This record gives sequence, C-alpha cells and structure tokens, in this order.
Amino acid sequence: MSSAIGVVGVKLSTTDGQRVVGVGYVDTTLRKLSVCEFPDNDQFSNLEALLVQLGPKECVLPGGETAGEMGKLRQVIQRGGILITDRKKADFTTKDIVQDLNRLLKSKKEEQINSAALPEMEKQSSVENANTAQSLAGLLNKCRTPQGQRLVNQWIKQPLMDKNRIEERLNLVEAFVVDPELRQCLQEDLLRRFPDLNRLAKKFQRQAATLQDCYRMYQAINQLPNVVQALEKHEGAHQMLLLAVFITPLNDIFSDFSKFLEMIETTLDMDKVENHEFLVKASFDPNLTELREKMNELEEKMQSYLKSAAKELGLEAGKSIKLETNSQFGHHFRITCKEEKVLRNNSKYAIVDTQKNGVKFTNSKLSSVNDEYIKNREEYEEAQDAIVKEIINIASGYAEPMQTMNDVIAQLDAIVSFAHVSNGAPVPYVRPVILDKGQGRIVLKGARHPCVEVQDEVAFIPNDVTFEKGKQMFHIITGPNMGGKSTYIRQTGVIVLMAQIGCFVPCESAEVTIVDCILARVGAGDSQLKGVSTFMAEMLETASILRTASENSLIIIDELGRGTSTYDGFGLAWAISEYIASKICAFCMFATHFHELTALADQVPTVNNLHVTALTSDDTLTMLYRVKEGVCDQSFGIHVAELAAFPKHVIESAREKALELEEFQNIGKSKESDGEPPAKKFYREREEGEKIIQEFLCQVKALPLTDMSEEDIKMKLKELRSDVLAKNNSFVNEIISRTKVTS
Ligand code: ATP
Repeated sequence: MSSAIGVVGVKLSTTDGQRVVGVGYVDTTLRKLSVCEFPDNDQFSNLEALLVQLGPKECVLPGGETAGEMGKLRQVIQRGGILITDRKKADFTTKDIVQDLNRLLKSKKEEQINSAALPEMEKQSSVENANTAQSLAGLLNKCRTPQGQRLVNQWIKQPLMDKNRIEERLNLVEAFVVDPELRQCLQEDLLRRFPDLNRLAKKFQRQAATLQDCYRMYQAINQLPNVVQALEKHEGAHQMLLLAVFITPLNDIFSDFSKFLEMIETTLDMDKVENHEFLVKASFDPNLTELREKMNELEEKMQSYLKSAAKELGLEAGKSIKLETNSQFGHHFRITCKEEKVLRNNSKYAIVDTQKNGVKFTNSKLSSVNDEYIKNREEYEEAQDAIVKEIINIASGYAEPMQTMNDVIAQLDAIVSFAHVSNGAPVPYVRPVILDKGQGRIVLKGARHPCVEVQDEVAFIPNDVTFEKGKQMFHIITGPNMGGKSTYIRQTGVIVLMAQIGCFVPCESAEVTIVDCILARVGAGDSQLKGVSTFMAEMLETASILRTASENSLIIIDELGRGTSTYDGFGLAWAISEYIASKICAFCMFATHFHELTALADQVPTVNNLHVTALTSDDTLTMLYRVKEGVCDQSFGIHVAELAAFPKHVIESAREKALELEEFQNIGKSKESDGEPPAKKFYREREEGEKIIQEFLCQVKALPLTDMSEEDIKMKLKELRSDVLAKNNSFVNEIISRTKVTS
C-alpha cells in the first residue's frame, strides 16, 4: 500500500469554557491505535495541523450534528479532502471501550493486557483546568460547582459599571479574604457537595426527573444548614452583607423545601440508597412489602454464595472479594485488578467487566439468582410506578426554588473563588479603590500581570501605571522585542477588568476609575484562516475601536501597521494615535516599534513616552522588564536575533546593513531643516515624492516612442531615472529599493 489508509475519530467537549478536541487514530497498515486530546481555537487550527500530519483517508464523527461547532469542524475536515463517515453518537461514549480494547490490543510476551489500567484511559476528552494560566477565566475560576463556573465566565464577559454593585461584590470578596477558615471550609468541603442544580431544575421542569434525581436534590438541600452555619460564624465588617446576600436567602430556600424533604423521607427507601438503588419504601404498600420479602431472601442466598466463592478463591468475603450490584450487571462479585490472577483458567467464573476499580465477575449460581432478583425487582418497580409518578409530579412543582438555590450557590461559589485566587496569588491581591465613571484617574502601583506571574520560572517585575485626565492620557511604549511591552499594556487592561468584575487586583495599591469599555487591538493571531490578511484584520479592529471608544474608555493597542510598508504603517499609527489622543481623549496605551511615533508627545501634551529597559553587553542582552519614563534610545532587534541563535554571518550582514542605513539617515538629517518633527517630515517627503513620480511618468508619456529605437528608449529612461535618483527623496528611494530586483 503506497499511501496511509488511516482512520481518525474526532470528539468535541468543553472544559472551563475551553474547547477540547479528542482524536483517536487507527493506522491499519502499522496496526497502531493512538489517542490524544488538546485545546483548540474556534477555527480548529490545531486539529487541522494534526490532520495534515496524520493524513487520514477517513474521519468518523458523531452523526446528526451539522450546525455550529460541528459544522465548522466538518468544514476543516472536508477542506483536508478527508471522507466523513457519520456514526451513532452512542458509539462515542466510553461504555464498552475497555472490553473492546482488551480484545484489540496485543501485548508483548503474550500476557494479558488490562486496558482499564492504561494511562490513556484517563483521557475523556475533557481535560480539567486546561489552559489555566493562559486566560483570566482559567485563573479566576476555582469554583467547585458547574453553576459557579458558569457565573464566573459570565461575570468576566459582563463587567459592572455601577460603583455600588462593584463595591458590594468587593465587600463580599473581602469577607472571605479575611476569613480563611470560612473560605477553606466552603471551598474544600461544603461547595463540592452541590450538584449542577440548574441541570437538575431543568430536568424537573421537563418532568424527566427520576427518583435518583429527587434524592440528589434531597441531599443538596440538606447541605444548606451546614453552609448557613459556617457563614453565621463569620464576624467581620461585612457580616450584615453576608446575612442579606446568602444566609437569609438560603434559610428561605431551606424552608421552602421542608415539605419536599418530608416527602422524600417518607417515600424513599433510604436503606437501599446506599446500594445505589432508588426504590419506594416497601412499607408504603402491601404489594411492595411482599415483593421486598422475596428479594430479601434472594439477597441472603447471594450473600451465602459470596462466602463460598471467597472460600474457593482463597479470598476474604466482604474485604478482598465483594458482592455488589449496579444497574448494568445486577449482582456480581468484585475483586481488585491486582487479584485478577485468581480467575485465570478458572472456568467456573465469568468476567463481566474490567475497570480501574476492579474486575467484576459472576458464576452460574449467582447469575441465576440474580436473574430471579432482577425479575422481582422489575415487578417491584412496576408496582411502585404510580407512586413514583406522583412523587416526581409533586417534585416538579419545586423547579423554581431549585433555580433560586442554583443562583445563590453559584454566587457564593464565584465569590469564594475570587477570594481564594486573591489570597493564593504569589503576592496576595489588593482591594482596588473604585472611582465613579468620569473621575479620570487610573493609578496602579506595582502592577503585575496575573497570568504571567503564575508561570513557572518567571520572577515578575512589577511596574506602575498612571493615567490622569488632562495630564497623562496616552502612553507610547517603545523598547526591545521581548522586553515586556505587551505584558505591561495587557496587564493594565486585565487589572481594570478585574476591578470592574469586583475582584481584588494584582497590585500594591490600585485606584481605578470605572471605564465604559476596554478596547484592545492585540495580536492578529489566526485571522489568516478566516480569510482576512493580518493587516486587514488589524485595520478592521482599529476602525471599530475608533468608532466605539469614548472619553471614558481604555484603549490598548499592541503594535499597529506592521503588515504594510513602513511609510503607510507609520502614517496610520501616527494618525490613529493623534485622533485618539486629541479627539477621543480616551485613556490609551500604545506599544509600538515606530520610534518616530514618540514625537507625538511634543505635539500633544497629554501624550507620554515610556520604554521598557534592557542591558546589553558584547554578546548578551538582559531584559529588565522595568518600565521607565522617556524614549528608548537604542534598538535591540539584532541582539534579539542573536539570542534566537541566528547564523553568525546573517547577524553580521544585518549589522552592516543597519549601520549603512543609519549613516544614510544621518546624511539625510544634516540636509533637513533642523528640528522638523518626524511626522511633518514624513508627510512632506511623501508629498514631494509623489510629485517626483508624477513628473517622471509625464515625461515618459511624452516620449515619441514610435520614432525611437529600442536603444534610444533605454538611454532616455536611464537618464530620467538618474534625474529622479538625484532628487534623493526618501519616499521614492524606498519604492525604488523595493522594486530594484524586478527592474
Ligand atoms: P515583542 O515586541 O516581541 O512583541 P514585548 O516587548 O511585547 O515583545 P512581551 O511579550 O510582553 O514582550 O514579554 C516577553 C516575555 O517576557 C513574557 O512572555 C514574559 O515571560 C516576560 N516578561 C514580560 N514582562 C515581564 C515582567 N514585568 N517581569 C518578568 N517577566 C516579564
């Protein structure tokens, strides 16, 4: 076979708002199975890269889904020329995987493989906490319940604008920051005990709930007094707030459910719940009582089988061999995977399932009594059916308080998570001072980037940020690549956002005026895939920033105008900055590699120059990550290239070229009228340059070409060209230098 004929299976899931792609690959020529999972963006670029590498012929997908995410996924796969085959969704669950794998995998040396113990089984295409440090959502989300996680994600997407509401949230966070005991008790114990109440409530609403769901609800409600008790112990300044926001609502909810609890206690057979059986109490109905007695007898029988099996296998009943029951296999014996060898070559016992938690098996006696038991149980369930319907029906009436309970628990979880993160950071966060919109001050002392500082091997250098209406409103940040420009301007945006969602912030002290929006143009990353060029994406984003921003906004721009000629790029960067600084009058941070832009500070008084610092010696470049006032007086591009281990001769040639250009510029400078601001010079040169080109074209057009020999034309053109060159206009020179090769 000349080409690979592999097949991939792809599955999608979401963890903490992060898309996770799970891929299985079968190479039929090599007889190999591989699995992996990874986070991906909304264009599935990682998956696309993987598919290119594997080059499969066919892709198996869960059938039926063609909209949304799955639609995009299908496009990516089709674009790769891969055949799509739809399979039942159920085939993508992990149910029978272990058994199938046990059959498919061939081990070395003929020993039996226990697939359940393979490390790959840990993957469920749902990595927990994927992407934790890279996103604010990952960092702030230390919630214990799904509803809490959803709420934190919502809060991050919907920051507050109302000072009172921000202060209230900060007060709540503070209450848990100053009370570590309460925080830990909730985080490590109590909150973990709440299920996804929103999903349960929806199930009850649809009347699709089961007795088990009733029991789950019952358990969750019974946790409420513990939560209230813990909260009541708190004795801080915000005691009354805790009472109003959590304690009173939780008490109300608990009493709303008193009849529900009573109903579950009188109807549900609590003894059986321990075995994960959810049945109506036998005493509730004479028919049920009779059936229960029969089942008890059968159970006793099975217990005696356990004893004899234990004896036969040399194990201890109830300890190393257990009698258990579940919905899939009914009653069965279970031993640990380690003990599995006692069953080998033993025809009396049949293995029904192998998992990490042990090997389940049965024998003929147990299996026949189990059948009888199941029959009895089915009769029992039939007999209890009407009662169950009634219970579910009544329980469905509680959908609304369930939703309320969901909301209160979610809020508690989210607040505790904020407090936990604020306290657990490398240096604890501080409470920001919030100023009303329009107050015109953002002053951050010792500010850090919350996501960068938690990365391993980063000793983070804090920096100050100062914005003041009418004084310092526009910061231009220059300095070497990798010097920390992006980090500095992004951390400002992140800190203002954190303050407005009511979280503590990574600073020594912080004063934050509420902004109406934070507009950012940073990294155009994967927009090529969307069919937009990097430059176009940059322009589209910037246009929307210019349209949206108001004087109360915060704008963050990380490099602009890279994807076009230096002239166009600088022109745009200048014009955009000037517009923001003098027309919109928003707070803005602009990281740029155009040093000429720093001259804007001479023209607009509220513009301020900052630079990130670095130390150079002969062959090393040390980043200091310290932000200082003023313009960076040195260029470090070649040093950075050196750090990236460029070939020596490339570096040398770069140095020479840079020197040449510098000299060239210096010659230019001496001829210029001294002190002309770079922007003005730029526009003047460009205008003159355009005139020169116009002139040149007119002269060419006027040539009597039909009367001239080829030789004459060449001569004349050369003459005209040297006229143009003699004018030494830098705009024209740049165009000529770029077209030299083709001419
Ligand atoms: P470029 O111009 O190439 O885009 P940059 O100046 O924007 O670079 P950053 O991307 O902000 O540089 O920073 C590069 C790396 O330096 C970061 O990934 C981080 O590890 C480290 N760094 C940035 N700021 C700090 C800081 N204040 N303290 C410690 N490390 C930092």
